[in-house]
Amino acid sequence: MKKLIVTITLLSLVACKETKKEEVATQVEETAAKTEVLLYTFDGGTVTAHNLNLFAQGDTYQGESKELADPFYVIKHPDGVLVWDTGLPENLVGQDPYTTPDGGFTISRKDSIVNQLARIDLTPSDVEFVAFSHIHFDHTGAANTFENATWLVQTPEYDFAMSDAIKGNSFYASESFSKLTNVFKLNGDHDVFGDGTVIIKAMPGHTAGHQVLYLELAEAGPVLLCGDLYHFDANRQNAIVPQFNYDIAETEQSIKEFEAFAKNMNATVYIQHETDDFKLMPKAPNALK
Ligand SMILES: [Zn+2]
Repeated sequence: MKKLIVTITLLSLVACKETKKEEVATQVEETAAKTEVLLYTFDGGTVTAHNLNLFAQGDTYQGESKELADPFYVIKHPDGVLVWDTGLPENLVGQDPYTTPDGGFTISRKDSIVNQLARIDLTPSDVEFVAFSHIHFDHTGAANTFENATWLVQTPEYDFAMSDAIKGNSFYASESFSKLTNVFKLNGDHDVFGDGTVIIKAMPGHTAGHQVLYLELAEAGPVLLCGDLYHFDANRQNAIVPQFNYDIAETEQSIKEFEAFAKNMNATVYIQHETDDFKLMPKAPNALK
């Protein structure tokens, strides 16, 4: 930690019966604040998976259902603001929960991203960067809110987004991110602010260009937001890969790299869809520091 020694010589006027001038030398040791990165967690909706077995290769979760959180995050760095994921589609706000035609999922969302950003005095124009762990519809719901931001996206994810392969696939909603035209394509890891405190890490497999977010926070220490590398705690414990993943082998490789990195950095891992992890996070206007 960088230390700053400041010597201040003060000429003090000491008030007493007879005023006198006294030279006081005061040495003040100040600890220069470590770059303050703040992680704000917001509610981007709720997903109930009625057929949890979709999240496994075999029949691990046959007959089970589970409620999943769907948060989005704001990372405030002294040099700018990054929004990580944006939750479910905002046309759900004010509506009854919606169940997909195949009965697989029920989704709901209580509030818009603009309303929630206001709790920390931010407007969309304050956001310099937007990035998604991946472009499934439950992460890009409010993406177009940030049409003036720079979209940080892995090249394979962007190429898939612009290809015919995305058409008709109900996991994607191309129109939800159609206004993002300031594109900065990534080919691997990316240090967002150039000081090592906010790093996007390529972890493909769930989608073509899935990525996770590594943060170095002054108090909480190293943190990893794992995107959908895992959907809930039991997924991680058993390294179980969902059957709807883009590339199973790539996912398994990413899991190995992720776990090695998390261990090496001694990082706290937050599984974004895990409701227990979501509950642990301070909610805006409070931040993880
Ligand atoms: Zn998801």
